[in-house]
Amino acid sequence: MGRNKTVFGIGVLCFIMGMCLGVVLAGLNKQEFQAEEQKTRKTWKRQEQPPANSTLADTAECYLCGNHNRSLMGMFRGRDDLGVICVNDWYVMDMQIRNLDGMGGGGSGWTVGAEDSCSFQTDRYPERGISEITVEYGANSIFDVKKVQGHLCQTCLDKLLEVMDSCGYEGEEIGAKDICMVDFKTLELYSLQEHYSTRYIRDYYVQIDGEDEEDMDVIGIYTPVLENGERVEDIEKELESMYN
Ligand SMILES: [Zn+2]
Repeated sequence: MGRNKTVFGIGVLCFIMGMCLGVVLAGLNKQEFQAEEQKTRKTWKRQEQPPANSTLADTAECYLCGNHNRSLMGMFRGRDDLGVICVNDWYVMDMQIRNLDGMGGGGSGWTVGAEDSCSFQTDRYPERGISEITVEYGANSIFDVKKVQGHLCQTCLDKLLEVMDSCGYEGEEIGAKDICMVDFKTLELYSLQEHYSTRYIRDYYVQIDGEDEEDMDVIGIYTPVLENGERVEDIEKELESMYN
């Protein structure tokens, strides 16, 4: 009996020791796993643009809200349309989503910008209310505030900096791409820094796809608000004609 008890006791002891060893090993394994995870997990960070002062002496010459003859904004300002701006060399590309005043001929085109800056491939179908602009980045397509400080008034410069936040993994900040969207009617600017996003700008649906490092795809579609399947604008017109 005494011997059996001893054997049983040793057996229990071995079992407990085995359990303990198992727990310790599992713990070590977990620590190792966590350390590994720490190494591979990167922090996604939003990097804001630091404030900058405008050096433009005459605000009437502002490239966005003023009338400098080197800016194409003067041609498009006030039109019910959206555009894409290559910021560093301030090239303004109109999307021509709708053929409003006979200006939008549509079709496909290719516009090469200044050396090492963005180029645009355009596929515009104003008769359908849809436009696609592909921006191909150049060697100097990282936003450089020094290129615009002298061309924009303080209000427009602040507006621009606000949409120039860049995204990237911590320690891998590569800066913001020098492109943004503009609503010619309101002069509001919109960010093109996200890798993928969709939004409505007034009557337009905009989808951007910049997952590729080399270029960014911007699609604009005229999608007015509908009420029972009819454009609200048309309903209003119909009512007006009924009572006049
Ligand atoms: Zn301005």
